[in-house]
Amino acid sequence: MNIGIFGGTFDPIHIGHLVAAVNAKFSGALDEIHLVVANVPWQKENARYLTPAQTRFDLVRQAVSNMEGYVASDVEIRRGGRSYTYDTLAHYREMYPGDDLFLVVGADAALEMHTWERGDELSKLSSLIVVTRPGFEIPKSILGWDTWQSVEIPSLDISSTDLRLRVKDGRPLSFLLPEFAIKFIEEHGLFM
Ligand code: ATP
Ligand code: MG
Repeated sequence: MNIGIFGGTFDPIHIGHLVAAVNAKFSGALDEIHLVVANVPWQKENARYLTPAQTRFDLVRQAVSNMEGYVASDVEIRRGGRSYTYDTLAHYREMYPGDDLFLVVGADAALEMHTWERGDELSKLSSLIVVTRPGFEIPKSILGWDTWQSVEIPSLDISSTDLRLRVKDGRPLSFLLPEFAIKFIEEHGLFM
């Protein structure tokens, strides 16, 4: 099997994430793509209030519940502590010894990968797919990677950061994220 590993904070999950996952899965000929929800994204730690990991995970799980080949993964939550992609890839390497792994990142994340814990060693564990994201160039070089697949996806200038601001300001969320997630955010007063 070809297995994609698409990590994120998903606070909250939105259409940009889902379109990225769908297109990475298609272009990478992936049999499965796992949306791996960060427990404590160390780069965002202390920077702002984070929705509890289990809540972020529940929304991701619901978002892909009817999509075959899409898996919500709480492996980083179960591991606890700070979440490092290297540890997650090592875990998948162990769980799926005979399969091919593909780390999936957006262009903004690709530009940051050299700062990640053991970022220069990730290529020992998997291949790489970089999807386009408005406002960010696909890097010309990525530390530790000789090659990767770039996937052009529909430009959706949607970010969780903007969605959180929209909730605060009372601006509309419709069509930027799944309807059930909008309901959940409103009912539980997230991001207020
Ligand atoms: P935040 O604003 O809180 O950082 P985000 O929208 O960037 O949230 P993340 O959870 O940080 O979402 O991103 C997870 C992964 O999804 C990253 O690899 C990121 O590049 C990718 N991604 C997020 N939004 C988009 C988008 N609109 N188009 C393409 N890729 C995206
Ligand atoms: Mg981000």
